Amino acid sequence: MLYNSTENKNEVVSSAQAIAQGISSDGGLFVPQEIPAYTLDTFKDLLPLSYQDRAKKVFADFLTDFTAEEIADCVNKAYTAEKFGSENPAPIVTEKYKGNEISILELWHGPTCAFKDMALQILPHLLTKSLKKTCDGKEAVILVATSGDTGKAALEGFKNVDSTKIIVFYPVDGVSPMQKQQMTTQEGDNVNVCAIKGNFDDAQTGVKKIFTTNEITDKLAEHNMLFSSANSINWGRLLPQIVYYISSYCDLVNSGKIKLGDKINVVVPTGNFGNILAAYYGSCMGLPINKFICASNSNNVLTDFINTGVYNKDRKFYTTISPSMDILVSSNLERLLYKLSGNNDVLVREWMTDLKTKGTYTVTEDVKNQISKLFFGGYCDDAQTKATIKELFDSQGYLCDTHTAVAVNVYNQYVEKTGDKTPVIIASTASPFKFSASVLQAICPDSTLPEAEFDAVDMLKEVSNADVPKPLASLKDKSVRFSNVENVSDMPKFVLKALGIE
Ligand SMILES: *Cc1c(COP(=O)(O)O)cnc(C)c1O
Repeated sequence: MLYNSTENKNEVVSSAQAIAQGISSDGGLFVPQEIPAYTLDTFKDLLPLSYQDRAKKVFADFLTDFTAEEIADCVNKAYTAEKFGSENPAPIVTEKYKGNEISILELWHGPTCAFKDMALQILPHLLTKSLKKTCDGKEAVILVATSGDTGKAALEGFKNVDSTKIIVFYPVDGVSPMQKQQMTTQEGDNVNVCAIKGNFDDAQTGVKKIFTTNEITDKLAEHNMLFSSANSINWGRLLPQIVYYISSYCDLVNSGKIKLGDKINVVVPTGNFGNILAAYYGSCMGLPINKFICASNSNNVLTDFINTGVYNKDRKFYTTISPSMDILVSSNLERLLYKLSGNNDVLVREWMTDLKTKGTYTVTEDVKNQISKLFFGGYCDDAQTKATIKELFDSQGYLCDTHTAVAVNVYNQYVEKTGDKTPVIIASTASPFKFSASVLQAICPDSTLPEAEFDAVDMLKEVSNADVPKPLASLKDKSVRFSNVENVSDMPKFVLKALGIE
C-alpha cells in the first residue's frame, strides 16, 4: 500500500517513508491511497483475539512494507501489561449519565496517563524501523509542539531510543501545573524541553516553519540528521488510534452489549482532530459507526465548521480547564477533507492556503453535506464541564477528567436533540488526576483548593476514593531539568543549539 500527500497526489511514498518523514515536503499530510475493507467476517475473526493481536492485523494491512516480525516487535514492545496496567490497554467501563448507558473507553492507562500513550508508545518503534528502511544511518530529530499531553507522551515514548533526539515546545501559560512538572522533569539523554511565549497554535506554526526552512534542514543533513514529527499529523500516530476503535467494538460484541454488525455512535473530545479521524478511518474500513460526535470546549471552531461548512480560526482563543483541546487549527481535519472531496488535492491545497492567508476557508456544498450526515458537532464551557464531572461522580461514583466530561456533556446534548439512543462509545482521554485541581473544584465546589498541584492530587484521592496512577504519584519528588522560556522567533535557534550544530 502506498501513501500520498493531501496537497499533492503525485507525491507518493511507502508507509515507512510516510512515517519517517512525518509531513510531506509540500506541507500536506500523508494518507493511504486506498483503505483496507473489513467485512463482518473479518471482525468475527478479530473477536477472540487480544488487543495486541487485533493491533497486529490492522498494522499489517496498512504497513505493507513491514514484515510480520517487525510489526509484532513494535506491538509487543508498546502495549505491555507493565506499561498499561493490564493486558487490555484500553478497557471499557459502563456507566449511566442522565438515564443513558454510556460505554467509556478508558484510553489513559499508559505511562503518562493520557490517551496519547496509545500511539506514542508504539510510534518510536515504527519510526526507527521506518528510518532503517528509508535512510539508514540517519539520526531522527523529533520536533513536537504540544498543548500538554502530546509532549510528555512523546518524551516518554522516545526517551533513550537509539538514533533519535526529541525536542518539545509548549506554550508557557497553556499547560496544567501537572503537565508542566511532567515535562520539565523528563528523564533521558536524548530529550529537550522548552516553553515558548505564545499559545499552542504559535508553537505548532513555529515547528511547521522549522520543518520547511531549507537553511535549517540543510544544516541537519550536513550532520547526518533529519527532522521527523511525532505530532498527530504523523501517520504512525494515527494508525494506532484506529486499532482501539476496532478493538473496543469487538469488546462490546464479546460482552453482549451489541451484536456483530450493530451500529454504534462514537463521541470524541477533540482538539487536533486526530482521535476522531481515527474513528472515521475505522468506519471507512467497515466498522459500523452511525454518528461521529465531535465534542469541543469553548474553542468551538469545529462545532461551527460542522454546522456551517466554514472554518474560521480568527476568533477569541480561550484558555480552558480542558487545555489539550485549546486549539484553533485542527491539523488532521485536512485528511477528512481530502477523503470527503474525493481525494481532491487541488481543492485541499486551496483551502489550506486560504486558512494560512485569510484565516478561513469554506468547503463545497457537497463536502458540507457529507460532514453534516456523518458528524455532530457540539461544545460546552468550563462551568458545564464541571457540572458534568459532578453529576457523573455524584450519581455513579465515577470520576472523569475535564476532557472526557466535555465529551459526556456534548453526548447528552446530542441525545436530547436527536433522541438517538444507538449504543455509544465515549473516548476517555485522560486520568482525572492529571487535572486534579479542576476535577476537585468540580466535585467539591465549596471547598478551598490547595495551592500546590500535588496537594490537590492528595485531596482528590481522599474525596473520591480513587487511586492515583503511579506515574503521577511519583512525579512530586522529581527535580526540574528544563526551564528555558523562549520567544517564538527564537525557536529555530533553540533547536540548533539543542542539537549542538549552531
Ligand atoms: C490530545 C488530547 C485531546 C484531543 O485529541 P485530538 O486527537 O487532538 O483531537 C483530548 N483530550 C486529551 C486529554 C488529550 O490529551
